[in-house]
Amino acid sequence: MTDCIFCKIINKEIKSDIVYEDEDVLAFNDIDPKAPQHILVIPKKHVACLSDLGRPELPLIAKVYGVIQKLVEDKKLKAAGYRVVVNEGKSAGQAVFHVHFHLLGGRDFSWPPG
Ligand code: 5GP
Ligand code: ZN
Repeated sequence: MTDCIFCKIINKEIKSDIVYEDEDVLAFNDIDPKAPQHILVIPKKHVACLSDLGRPELPLIAKVYGVIQKLVEDKKLKAAGYRVVVNEGKSAGQAVFHVHFHLLGGRDFSWPPG
């Protein structure tokens, strides 16, 4: 997707602070962090929303989740707790239409979310 900001990050057309990369998954620090740790974990395949991920993408989502688990371990987030968020569509405030998992940690989080 030529006009997708996250595809541009994947293709290194836009600079980002990458914390993990393999052939299918990229993880990078959010440019506007909402917590001391705020990492975006994305599949390299362009899929707009969580609900557009179908059965063929399930192995890819498993890989994304594996990377989240690795980052939780690397960043030592398990003991204190952390939050994983996916926003979809207007009501949830999705701003970038390339599916991404927010991994947030390093502070307390309120519930319900705003
Ligand atoms: P959404 O609201 O779509 O769930 O979240 C999009 C996230 O992407 C936001 O937290 C925003 O700060 C982040 N973001 C938007 N543009 C860029 C960028 O160019 N680089 C990085 N690293 N993060 C971005
Ligand atoms: Zn994209």
